[in-house]
Amino acid sequence: MAKYLDLRTQYNKNDLIEAAEFIKNGKLVLFPTETVYGIGANGLDSNAVKSIFVAKNRAGDNPLILHVSSIDMVDTIAKDISPLEKKLMNDFFPGPLTIILKRKDIVPNVVTANLDTVGVRMPSNKIARDLIELSNTPIAAPSANISGRPSGTNIQDIFNELNDKVDYILDGGETKIGLESTVIRVINDKIHILRPGKITYEDLSKYAEVIIDEHILGSLKENDKILSPGMKYKHYAPNTKCMLIYSDDKEKLLEEMKKLENENTLIITNNNNVNLFQNAIGYGTSLEEISHNIFKLLRQIDKHNKELIIIEGVKPEGLGLAIMNRLIRACSHNYIKL
Ligand code: AMP
Ligand code: MG
Repeated sequence: MAKYLDLRTQYNKNDLIEAAEFIKNGKLVLFPTETVYGIGANGLDSNAVKSIFVAKNRAGDNPLILHVSSIDMVDTIAKDISPLEKKLMNDFFPGPLTIILKRKDIVPNVVTANLDTVGVRMPSNKIARDLIELSNTPIAAPSANISGRPSGTNIQDIFNELNDKVDYILDGGETKIGLESTVIRVINDKIHILRPGKITYEDLSKYAEVIIDEHILGSLKENDKILSPGMKYKHYAPNTKCMLIYSDDKEKLLEEMKKLENENTLIITNNNNVNLFQNAIGYGTSLEEISHNIFKLLRQIDKHNKELIIIEGVKPEGLGLAIMNRLIRACSHNYIKL
């Protein structure tokens, strides 16, 4: 049973002194960020980091992101930072961007899954940043969920899943963005997007040529070389079978969804279209709303006891690319593009 602290309505930096002591003592602290909740541990303490892998049942070859509270802290864990990487950090830190950098030896192998790089992010959520600062160490923190499940965007959704797996829970209410950070790596001055998020292709294109990794929307084939181990794992999946469907032609898309629906299906669609179907729930109207709601919805899907969930896709541009990346995986690549 974890210690629980409610910071939803009032919050003072001093409230975090105890949680920071837990981090310093090698314990696990569940905390909010602006993207999703994280399961945090002292990122420079191998044993503490190992216990994250156990708590999440995470594959040992899937590395963790180190969360920092300042650019100075980045320099303690990463080296050979290029001018482009520096510029990106200056402009996007703090925020929902993770940059894969060359790591220093101080970073334990268990964090990076023996890679010579380390993922670094500075969260903008005040609770997250204050916790890192008070702990006086980078915090390794993957998304708060058992591996394969949708990431946690509020404590209620993940309490039963993680309460007996962590030592301390900081409840900061609903996370703002609702999707994990954009993960990038700069290679030869080109920005490779390894996981799309709130910081988009369009945002990054102002800085350099941007390459969207082919595995973001495509499936992984045998012998494919991958730049990020996380790409090969099943993710975000409810137990009920899900299908994603999309067309640039809105009318055609809705027509096809109508044909597919029956008493054993549940449709997940734009709020504006809910009335068109017998059995449908809305995921919001704007891309921001959809990204905010989607993991919460995926967690509720099994309760509807349907045989098939039919999810309306969005145009894979801007934040839409991140939404489609998560939905394609939630549907285990069961995706119809009309
Ligand atoms: P999560 O911890 O759930 O937010 O996922 C972190 C993502 O970042 C996973 O997909 C990891 O594979 C990826 N990642 C973390 N560190 C690295 C790294 N050094 N190189 C490539 N990908 C990384
Ligand atoms: Mg995750």
